[in-house]
Amino acid sequence: MSIVYIVSAPSGSGKSTLVAELLKTVRKLDFSISYTTRPPRRTEQNRKEYFFVSREEFAAMIAADEFLEYADVFGNCYGTARRFLREAEQHGNDLLLDIDVQGAEQIQQKIPDAVSIFILPPDWQTLESRLRNRGSDSEEVIRRRLDTARREIENYSKYDYILVNNLLEQSCDQLKDIVLAERLLRSGARPSGEEATQVATAQACRLDQARERVQPILASFHLQTAKGT
Ligand code: 5GP
Repeated sequence: MSIVYIVSAPSGSGKSTLVAELLKTVRKLDFSISYTTRPPRRTEQNRKEYFFVSREEFAAMIAADEFLEYADVFGNCYGTARRFLREAEQHGNDLLLDIDVQGAEQIQQKIPDAVSIFILPPDWQTLESRLRNRGSDSEEVIRRRLDTARREIENYSKYDYILVNNLLEQSCDQLKDIVLAERLLRSGARPSGEEATQVATAQACRLDQARERVQPILASFHLQTAKGT
């Protein structure tokens, strides 16, 4: 059985960089390339970052039940094709999904043992400056992304792991350790040496261990810690 890893984050959290690094360093981990009706950004290539499709093509895929999940994000449709999971299973690989909070909820219902990871920016100011420095979106889109970020961050407690992307190199290592620790624990093997360190790092990122670290970040977004967390 393939392990399904879900990674969600507000845009501007550095998620794409972290995911790209993870895919370079961890073997037997496939990336699910989503379908979207959003137009490609300057540097994006069809079939690499996304499959860029028309609304009609997307609707036809929904009608044919080709999606494991799909959602409307920022006014565009995004969806995970079922075939990526099928192919990962055929190859004995695990599968990584980079999807939003709505998609994560759908996957958690369908695949309850999926591993979910939420990436948080260090604070509101950092997120805002990252979005502006990207230079790819209009002011209106930036505002909308910041508003959406606040709403997405409110859902952090639905995830198994919380990763605060402060220092890129450290966050890359933490993400890798979460992936490898889950593989190890599910294999039933006893962690030894370096593996034990990976398990400990992953453990420190688990939701119940991360609550204190999350509080000042939520405060910078004018959010309260969720009830019971
Ligand atoms: P962007 O347009 O910046 O590439 O992505 C916007 C948001 O859509 C991100 O939060 C990203 O994780 C999410 N997203 C990308 N692909 C999918 C997908 O297949 N399903 C869902 N639900 N969200 C997706």
